Amino acid sequence: MPGCHVVHRWAGLGGVADLPTKPCAVCGRTMTWRKAWSANWDQVRHCSDRCRRHRLTTTDHALEDAVRTLLAARPAAATICPSEAARLVGGDDWRPLMEPARAAARRLVARGEVVITQRGRVVDPSTAKGPIRIRRAG
Ligand SMILES: [Zn+2]
Repeated sequence: MPGCHVVHRWAGLGGVADLPTKPCAVCGRTMTWRKAWSANWDQVRHCSDRCRRHRLTTTDHALEDAVRTLLAARPAAATICPSEAARLVGGDDWRPLMEPARAAARRLVARGEVVITQRGRVVDPSTAKGPIRIRRAG
């Protein structure tokens, strides 16, 4: 039975929101418990085969540091664009780093360091589409 049917059945028994969740170690998106993971949920770290194959690189870590550095240099309520972190790390070759920069921001959200906003409101980074801004949490 495909996983989606399992989720629907569980959704009828108290709601999807009751299922355990945790962030993917690579892309930072929220993973919701599914039956296929029931035997080893504690060990599950990646949301997909694609994320499991992607080892976090020095560039990925540099993007996290860039987000921290940029935010630390501004007032607490200020926001930055992921492209600023991409530029700080990639220089003129920053465009390929845009999605990695967004993923870095999601990982920092998962750690409670930052929040992601759109039009000034905090949004769920797992589902946010379009331009985002990053702000210090708290
Ligand atoms: Zn992932």
